[in-house]
Order: sequence, then structure tokens, then C-alpha cells
Amino acid sequence: MKIARIFAYRVELPLKEGSYHWSGGKSVSVFDSTVVGVETECGLIGYGEVCPLGPFYLPAYAEGVRAGMRELAPHLIGMDPRQLSVLNLRMDAALKGHPYVKSGIDIACWDILGKVSGLPVCVLMGGRFGESVRLYRAISQAAPDEMASNLAGYRDEGYTRFQLKVGGDPDTDIQRIRATRAVLSDKERLVADANTGWTQHEAQRVVRAVADLDVYIEQPCLSYEECLAIRRNTNHPFVLDENIDCLDMLLRAKGDLAMDVVNLKISKLGGLTKAAQARDLCVSMGIAMTLEDSWGGDVTTAAIAHLAHSTPEPLRFTSTDFNSYVTVSTADGAPQRENGFMKTSDAPGLGVVPKLDVLGDRVVEVS
Ligand SMILES: [Mg+2]
Repeated sequence: MKIARIFAYRVELPLKEGSYHWSGGKSVSVFDSTVVGVETECGLIGYGEVCPLGPFYLPAYAEGVRAGMRELAPHLIGMDPRQLSVLNLRMDAALKGHPYVKSGIDIACWDILGKVSGLPVCVLMGGRFGESVRLYRAISQAAPDEMASNLAGYRDEGYTRFQLKVGGDPDTDIQRIRATRAVLSDKERLVADANTGWTQHEAQRVVRAVADLDVYIEQPCLSYEECLAIRRNTNHPFVLDENIDCLDMLLRAKGDLAMDVVNLKISKLGGLTKAAQARDLCVSMGIAMTLEDSWGGDVTTAAIAHLAHSTPEPLRFTSTDFNSYVTVSTADGAPQRENGFMKTSDAPGLGVVPKLDVLGDRVVEVS
């Protein structure tokens, strides 16, 4: 089996809420997503998706996915898409860095492997744990009372975990955390995610001011060292995200006891193959995980579901149903949230069938 063609569609995903705001005044209203196809000589097609959270969140941007694919894809024509480790080594040899460029191709090849073997991707990744995957809802940054009211609305839809977008003015952030925590019961979990937005002294003030509350603190500062300093001065459960972009950083953070939970994003790590490596290592080391991606639509949501569902439940903190945040559906068969949970399809591969009329013309095609 050989790869004959690699292609991509560009699709715009507007947000149901109109816009999404997080630290440092950053916001997105329409996501620019790339749906990737890998086609074999016999005409079998696997799909993946890459959708950066704008060009200013991680070192990734939407047009970079397509530009990188044009550079990388010629090196992969003729390779066996089922041999994921061989393929990933080739990708890393042909293009240094740029994990997000490789992610969509890797996901598409997992979809092919599943279709060829007749098995869902989660079974190939180790098997399904539990009935379904618990989701969190991200609460876009706004005034404290507005965030509390939005959180209450999403709780009514069945979510039990919430990720609060803070990382702005620390005094307002303290109010945001207090106002939202007041809405929740003891059984519900609140994460205050600063997305690198606080300086070290600001983060120190915030964690001290909310010391009496049950709240997780995620990625308070820009650098790993700043985050570690905050971690060592607070007893809130602590999550690292932006700094953990490879196995080396994961191992360093484990050695420093720098986190209780790590946020693994598929495209941040370079695809499902590398995300599963990191996931398996976390399982062995006893580190709980948020399993997700930077953003995306139906294909990304399916990939997240397979990664999460094949992760043991005690270490599966949360995941994201990104397809419920946006107004456009790009594929049939993707997981649909039910009462704050989602589950993987039993169909072979990712279990999604892209809506070609929604995706339009191909913007990348290499054969
Ligand atoms: Mg985060």
C-alpha cells in the first residue's frame, strides 16, 4: 500500500458565540481550518484536520499548515501510510520542526490504518476505556458576572468541568475565579487557564488571593521556570500546557514535579502518533491529562475522542468537543456531545465522512 496523493481543503469555522477571547486581549471569531486528505494508490482516503488557535497562540498559523504540506508532501508520496513510525521518521527528516504541519497527515494515516484493518482508531491505540469521555467547556474571557452566567448556561447543558479564560488584569481575574466558582457545586471542577498571560508576581498574587477556593491553575506564565516558581508557591492542583510541546519537556516537568495534570494537544505534539507516545508515558508516570487540540471541527473532534477514549479513565481529566463550538459541520459521523460527554464511533478509522460540498475546492494537492 502506497501514498499516491496528499491534499487539503481550507474551511472557515465561525464561532457560535461570535468570538472567543483569552489572555493578552487575543481573540478569534472565525477559525481557519485545514482538512487534510491522504489517498492511496488503490483510492482509499484517510482524513485529518489542523486548526491553530489563530496565529498568536502556539508557534503555528493556518496558512503555515498548507505551505508546510506543499513542502513536506512530495517526500511522502510512495510511502506506506499504515507504517506510522516509519512515516513520522520520514516527516521529521524532511522537515525540521513544524509539528502542526505533520499532524493532519499523521491523523489521516491513522484513519487509513483503521479503515484497512476494519478497526476504530481507539482500538488500534490500545482499546476503549469506559463508556464515554468527560468534556470541559472553555469560558471565553469577559466580565466576571458575564463569565459566571455563561458557565451556568453550559452547566445546564451537562458540562461538569470548566476552563476559565483568565490571564488578563490580575484583580479582574481574581473576581472571575470567585464569581464562577460560586456558581459550581463541590463535584464540579474549575480550571483557571491564564494561557501564559500573567507575569510571575501577578500569578503569585492571584494564587494567593484564591487560596481558599477549589480551583486548578493552568499555565500561569510564559516560561517554564516562571510556572515552576508559581507551582512551588501554591497548593492548587497545577496544569502545564503551552510549555509541554515534546517528550523532553514532559520528562523534565515530571522530574521537577512541576504539574499534576498536563494538557496534550494533538497538533502541538505533531499528530496522533506522538500524542499517543506522550499519553502512554503519562499513563506510566501517573500524570493526568487533558486530551485535546488547539481547535478544529468534526475531524479534529473525532481524533480527540479516539485519543481520549483509549486513555485509562483515572488519568483522563478532560477533553474538548470543538465541533459544538462552531456553526459549520464538515463531516458526518463525528462524536456529538451528550450531557457533557462524548464517545468514539465504532466505525473503522476515525469514523468520519467529510462533507465535500462544505469543504469546496482543494487548496493543496501533491501527487
Ligand atoms: Mg490551556
